[in-house]
Amino acid sequence: MSRQHFNQQLLDFIGTSPTPFHAVKNLRTALDKAGFKYLAEENSWQVQPGGRYYITRNGSSIIAFVAGRKPAEDTGIRMVGAHTDSPCLKVKPQPELHRQNYFQLGVEVYGGALLNPWFDRDLSIAGRVIFDDGEGQLRQLLVDMQRPVAVIPSLAIHLDRDANNERKVNPQTDIPPLLFLDRDKNTKDFRQLLSAELAKDEPSLSGKTIIDYELYLYDCQAPARTGLYGEFISSARLDNLLSCFAGLQALLESEGQQTTMLICNDHEEVGSVSACGANGSMLRSLLERLFPQSEQLTRIIHRSLLISADNAHGIHPNFTDRHDGNHGPILNDGPVLKVNANQRYATNSVTAAIFRQLCKRTGVPLQVFVNRTDLGCGSTIGPITAASIGIQTLDVGVPTFAMHSIREMAGSEDAYNFCRVLNTFYNDTDSLVIQEI
Ligand SMILES: [Zn+2]
Repeated sequence: MSRQHFNQQLLDFIGTSPTPFHAVKNLRTALDKAGFKYLAEENSWQVQPGGRYYITRNGSSIIAFVAGRKPAEDTGIRMVGAHTDSPCLKVKPQPELHRQNYFQLGVEVYGGALLNPWFDRDLSIAGRVIFDDGEGQLRQLLVDMQRPVAVIPSLAIHLDRDANNERKVNPQTDIPPLLFLDRDKNTKDFRQLLSAELAKDEPSLSGKTIIDYELYLYDCQAPARTGLYGEFISSARLDNLLSCFAGLQALLESEGQQTTMLICNDHEEVGSVSACGANGSMLRSLLERLFPQSEQLTRIIHRSLLISADNAHGIHPNFTDRHDGNHGPILNDGPVLKVNANQRYATNSVTAAIFRQLCKRTGVPLQVFVNRTDLGCGSTIGPITAASIGIQTLDVGVPTFAMHSIREMAGSEDAYNFCRVLNTFYNDTDSLVIQEI
């Protein structure tokens, strides 16, 4: 696939994946098209060597894998991990707010969102709804309003003269989005309103009552190529749908001789502790089903490697002092190995060296990030998965700006190059056990 085609598909994927549920649905569609078979966790399975499969959990996490023709005891498993969730605003269970003449929604902040960029955006709502089908059965449905239905207007500078120096955002009082004018305050129940609105586009909801939901606000602005010469991409959720997509393409184009996996977990932005998060049982439970003997599984894990793929911070030209002078990744200069002495990243010299070799073999440049020593460091699924299953791991990702903003920015070459390295990893047959001398 050419870089241009890859980028177009990447932007389409992110644009049609406003929530982790939609991301998993789109990943499933691509996997189905490529002949991967869905295995339901509640059923019994027959996994054949050479077969291609995937499992999902909560509709928001997915693990796709190729069962190698060669025994995993010999080859280990080549794993790439990423996450499907991004910081955003989530609609509260009883969100109805009537202030002045406006109907507003109470929202929670999901994850470490940068809140200021959420003001003055054309926002839509998407997520999952649970409804009664009228015959006593509960059903779930993914919904996406797609059009701008909500806005969080800024307070004018005339009413806050210090706004450019010291405007703070109170997440309880300052960010409830406005949905519509409700002069008579007739709208008492958001669920009723939602049922009626969604039924306009979704006939299966006609006359049905929505019982519960997980709904998120998102920016309607489509992802775009940006920069005078198109050398950047701008979009919501680059962290971390970019890595999910790069991992997917690398897996789809892999040869499948050995066992390979792509793990895309939900809930990374809130600490990964959940049934479908990286600190939950999903991966371990899959491995135990594929390799039921514990001694056999332990041997396999110790021949395996996890590349934890999540974006890195490019050095911002207006804020260069926020980076260590020797570690300032530049957009389009290649993926970034992330290193942290306190194990906020799982990379060590062995796993870093393996990745350096993969980049060299692929002909892709590589950069290294370490935080300023006087700044706290973020973390990701790498250390969590490493700790829970005991697999050697490295953390790496493409450099970006504006991480956790409603619109982030990356280089237009990095995602494609990252995908090529991941593909080399999936196809490479060298041992992942580095011998001592
Ligand atoms: Zn991330």
